[in-house]
Amino acid sequence: MNSAPVPAEDLASTGKINLLNVDRHALEAFFVARGEKAFRASQVLQWIYQRGCDDISQMSNLAKSLRGWLGEQGEIRLPAIEREQRSRDGTVKWLLRLDDGNGIETVFIPEEDRGTLCISSQVGCSLNCSFCSTARQGYNRNLSTGEIVAQLWIAQRTLRAYGYGDRPITNIVLMGMGEPLLNFDNVVGAIGLMLDDFAFGLSKRRVTLSTAGVVPEIDHLREVCDVSLAVSLHAPNDALRDQLVPINRKYPLRELIAACKRYVDRQPRRRITFEYVMLAGINDGVEHARELVRLLKGVPSKLNLIPFNPFPGSGYDTSAADAIDRFRDIAMAADIMTVTRKTRGDDIDAACGQLAGSVFDRTRRSQRFPVRVEERFQ
Ligand code: SAH
Repeated sequence: MNSAPVPAEDLASTGKINLLNVDRHALEAFFVARGEKAFRASQVLQWIYQRGCDDISQMSNLAKSLRGWLGEQGEIRLPAIEREQRSRDGTVKWLLRLDDGNGIETVFIPEEDRGTLCISSQVGCSLNCSFCSTARQGYNRNLSTGEIVAQLWIAQRTLRAYGYGDRPITNIVLMGMGEPLLNFDNVVGAIGLMLDDFAFGLSKRRVTLSTAGVVPEIDHLREVCDVSLAVSLHAPNDALRDQLVPINRKYPLRELIAACKRYVDRQPRRRITFEYVMLAGINDGVEHARELVRLLKGVPSKLNLIPFNPFPGSGYDTSAADAIDRFRDIAMAADIMTVTRKTRGDDIDAACGQLAGSVFDRTRRSQRFPVRVEERFQ
């Protein structure tokens, strides 16, 4: 997992290793190669991730000479917070500016019994789901492991300063911008740091990766780190899903559902969370609900109904509340555990599918919205 201690992209800018890109094993190897004890790596991780330290010279349980050496080799380099917005419901959204000028968004969603951080995995997204605003931005590149964990680091430090307690983030969802399974190695590297007891120390049940359905990578994930899995389903048949989630043309429902079953196969109590965006008149009818029930038969599932979050020019409307309730009732009657996701942070465009960041679009420039943050960089 993320064993190359020096990603090439890192050396390019400052000549130093960004320690956020390095997992414990790589860091241990780094110290051992210098004749130091491996446990120094755990100490450094604790400084960075538990104490929120970004200054190697302050790591006071390392000898001064060791700090000096580490500071020559490495650094803790974080994206800049370009903008922070707070919703009236307590949701906080950050726009982070990366080294190359691209912008990504990260959202904190406080609830009574937990604090969930929704993080991005790519700059933009290449999957082109018809109802998602990130898709309109096009795709630029994968985030590095360091850029993924930096979102967590920055949110934790900021929330601590706001008095949210010492461990404000209890859950992570990889549901921000991008398709995490198309950035497999860096995402798995970042998950390693989320789960590492010397870093963020979260349990794997509290880390959820959401995918539009990259079937081979679902199997791959199961082999390397079986965190909780959410699948963006959104349609109960291939004809409709081909339209809404175009990756379905490559990996149709039969293959997707089989991969979901395999994912939870060896873990009797686990379930796949299926996300289903409620689009008025498109996928929210009684017949769709019945078809969905048939599709999910035999799959240990939770169903998450997401009222569509509108954005300008989307061409879709949110389903009426009674249509959502009817849909939920049909699923519940078939013993599918179903919740309607509460829309959070929509006043600051922080809700599902509204994250836009600012992407230097390489793929779909002509289809972009006329007024966007990224236009400032042209
Ligand atoms: N690419 C991954 C990660 C993104 S998760 C995936 O597709 O799962 C973001 C979730 O919000 C997905 O379920 C996505 O389909 C959903 N979503 C996208 N646009 C939305 C919108 N406008 N309203 C509600 N949900 C939306």
